[in-house]
Amino acid sequence: MNTQCFVEQDATSNILLRVTNVCGLCYKTFEEGEIIYYDMHSYRYICKDCMEKLASNMNEDCVIEAGESSLF
Ligand SMILES: [Zn+2]
Repeated sequence: MNTQCFVEQDATSNILLRVTNVCGLCYKTFEEGEIIYYDMHSYRYICKDCMEKLASNMNEDCVIEAGESSLF
C-alpha cells in the first residue's frame, strides 16, 4: 500500500473550520482530533477508509490504476 502518497494529519479545529470538515470522497464528517489524510494527488482531505481504498489502487508513483483513472 502506498501510504507515502498521503500526508497523515490530525483534524485540528483549524483544518475543520478553514479547509474542510468532510471527507472529499465519501463526505463523512471529520471529528476534531481524528486522523485524516491529505491526498497530494487530488489536493483534498480524505478519511482513513478512503485513503486505504485509494492507496490499494495506486502504483508507486501515486497514480490510480485498475480502471479508476477515469475519475480523474
Ligand atoms: Zn472517506
